[in-house]
Amino acid sequence: MTDSHDFDLIVIGAGSGGVRLARMSAQRGARVAVVESRYLGGTCVNVGCVPKKLFVYGAHVHDDLEDAAGYGWHIPMDDVSFDWPTLVANKNTEIERLNGIYGRLLANAGVQIIRGTASFRDTNTVVVGDRSYSAKHITVATGSWPVVPDVPGKECILTSNEMFYLPQLPRHAVVWGGGYIAVEFAGILAGLGVETTLLYRGDLFLRGFDDDVRRFTEQEMRKKGIDLMFNVTIESIDTQNAHYQVNLSNGERLETGLVMAATGRRAMVDGLGLTELGIELNASGHVVVDDHFQTSVPSITALGDVIGTPQLTPVALAQAMVLSRRLFGDGQGEMDYSAIPTAVFCQPNIGTVGLTEEAARAAGHTLRIYRSEFRPMKYTLSGRDERCLMKLVVDDPSDKVLGAHMVGPDAGEITQGLAVAIKAGATKAQFDSTMGIHPTSAEEFVTMREPVT
Ligand code: NDP
Repeated sequence: MTDSHDFDLIVIGAGSGGVRLARMSAQRGARVAVVESRYLGGTCVNVGCVPKKLFVYGAHVHDDLEDAAGYGWHIPMDDVSFDWPTLVANKNTEIERLNGIYGRLLANAGVQIIRGTASFRDTNTVVVGDRSYSAKHITVATGSWPVVPDVPGKECILTSNEMFYLPQLPRHAVVWGGGYIAVEFAGILAGLGVETTLLYRGDLFLRGFDDDVRRFTEQEMRKKGIDLMFNVTIESIDTQNAHYQVNLSNGERLETGLVMAATGRRAMVDGLGLTELGIELNASGHVVVDDHFQTSVPSITALGDVIGTPQLTPVALAQAMVLSRRLFGDGQGEMDYSAIPTAVFCQPNIGTVGLTEEAARAAGHTLRIYRSEFRPMKYTLSGRDERCLMKLVVDDPSDKVLGAHMVGPDAGEITQGLAVAIKAGATKAQFDSTMGIHPTSAEEFVTMREPVT
């Protein structure tokens, strides 16, 4: 596999997809370099999934302490205190540990790590600082970056990137957006004692999720004291010392100590010089690739958030496995984007896999819907007013389970197992013939007998 190039593969971006592609390809015998300007592990490890989940755990402790009373534990809640800098520092230590692991994984696989910002010189060469490197194949795996809408006063708006390093928590915060990141951070902030207002421009947040899930999540988040405002957006922000006045489209004004935008993420292609090489970007700015991650330039491929497929770490990892196999393995492999399970780590969590009821109806299915709502057993003794929703979307003629949706404790953990069943094409009869694990919340998924519609 040797030619005149410095490497067989250069990967631009050491995020989830880039690192996996680099490692897998090196293990297949390719000479690989990965170029990274920031941190090893990308968004997921540094300013995404991992630190977010640690914050979610931290935010849930208050509920756990309150619930302890019902189990006989005496915890004087007026004497409980929380120290945000400790959580951030411990999180940082863990992230540094993971950065080290990523570095070692790459080094042990024989991947050369090139620190700096890459730009294309030509279709087989990238420039990093004052050096250039050539490769037979170059993969763009530069990920995505938060977008902040262009409103007067936007300079004060933070994104998830900064939230992970916030020096102190405000008394009140405004979270702008209604997607994954907005609801997760609203849950984190509220759980840590910050009065939180979430602003969403549409009728109901979490567009694209099952409508029952959206309504149920709204209900549970309101119960936790989160101020949800829909059909509203930010028109401008005035800064007054360290405080902000947020001027809304409905004429209201909010006084707050922090404004966070979670209003989507754009592809990170700045400065790469892709269009100069004739590589097409679509209307939303993502790199256009074919089913095998090939751009319009034969030597250049792209994967992960930058190509606009679902912005999820497991999707980028799967893409990397396929691309590595195609470039340096047997040349085979296809991506399967069907039934991708996801979890939203708001409080309580959402877990979902397969079709929503709305999508299944729109696709022409005749449906049976199974739905169960209950108080999780743990809260019976503690008296917590938090409920759990489970829902199965079943194609009536074939009995196939098309979708499973949950809002409740450990929804992400539970949905992962369901995803295997749905991927395997399980029928409702097979769900029914599966023994429950008693007593769990999850057993409800195999004991829902009567359809609600
Ligand atoms: P999303 O695309 O999920 O949500 C963006 C939100 O911002 C939507 O509610 C959208 O409204 C709103 N919005 C967009 N533009 C504007 C605007 N100009 N003014 C007002 N509101 C606006 O993006 P996120 O930033 O939340 O997350 C990005 C992606 O990262 C997610 O889609 C997901 O793939 C991934 N992610 C996954 C997580 C997980 O797996 N748990 C956690 C966090 C992120 P509308 O719906 O009306 O378009």
